[in-house]
Amino acid sequence: MTAQIIDGKAFAANLRTRIATEVARMNEQGITPGLAVVLVGEDPASQVYVRSKGRMTKEVGMASFEHKLPADTPQADLLALVERLNADPAVNGILVQLPLPDHMDEAAVINAITPDKDVDGFHILNVGRLATGQKAMVPCTPLGCLMLLRDRLGSLAGKNAVVIGRSNIVGKPMAQLLLRDSATVTVAHSRTADLPGLCRHADIVVAAVGRAGFVKGDWIKPGATVIDVGINRTEDGLVGDVDQASVEKVAGAMTPVPGGVGPMTIACLLANTLTATARANGLPDPEGLTP
Ligand code: NAD
Repeated sequence: MTAQIIDGKAFAANLRTRIATEVARMNEQGITPGLAVVLVGEDPASQVYVRSKGRMTKEVGMASFEHKLPADTPQADLLALVERLNADPAVNGILVQLPLPDHMDEAAVINAITPDKDVDGFHILNVGRLATGQKAMVPCTPLGCLMLLRDRLGSLAGKNAVVIGRSNIVGKPMAQLLLRDSATVTVAHSRTADLPGLCRHADIVVAAVGRAGFVKGDWIKPGATVIDVGINRTEDGLVGDVDQASVEKVAGAMTPVPGGVGPMTIACLLANTLTATARANGLPDPEGLTP
């Protein structure tokens, strides 16, 4: 068997086109969705992310507000900016780019964002809402993975899913989303015993570990769907957490790196901004963009 390679880049482009259509429809009602991105410091990777977020926000017809603060900004100044953005009716989504400099308390900053504008879905209230099945803002990367899985598999009910990684950004919300879709979910992590054995029972494997080529072909049940969240910079360039060469011989479908989950993350950020805008204006949630 040779796995179908899931084209996340094409899926994300399609998603952005649908979002642009919705934005145009909102424009007719005098509504322009706005996304504010705050960057503190000069982390090169963060600068690249923020730049592409800004570009894609404008491409779908949304307003983009960029706030760049020096690395030594006092936390109180950042909190004051967040407060201004919370109160600004032109801003529907607020994203504070992580990581923040060491002198800042990330949780305090994230929890200062109005939950309804928290398009990253990291606010403690959104985490709780997701976990209890309430309307939430959902973290972008896991939301993108869910969309790809539903597109490939239809219903996820009764599927065995193994999520490798338990971070707050990817692993835990991914597990919540799969559970919400009635999959049977195992969350594996650095202390898990016999990870290959667990994966061999899985219809779905989501790898969010941060180790190049970690998941091997002989861990994979024939025909399984493998989602690779990892982004690892190596001498061979950008590679995922999944060893594509061996896994593609066994899996039914898998996402590549690059061109799989990565492009879905920004598309889902725009999807969340659209959802936040709809909710702020008393409109129904845009179709297919929320779990
Ligand atoms: P993290 O470092 O916060 O978490 C890694 C997780 O992997 C931990 O929960 C840890 O327990 C687990 N782990 C480590 N070693 C393990 C082992 N030997 N066996 C099993 N589990 C093990 O990372 P993160 O923020 O969740 O990101 C994971 C990866 O996904 C990174 O490569 C990151 O760059 C990438 N990422 C990609 C996107 C995207 O848009 N595609 C977004 C976020 C993160």
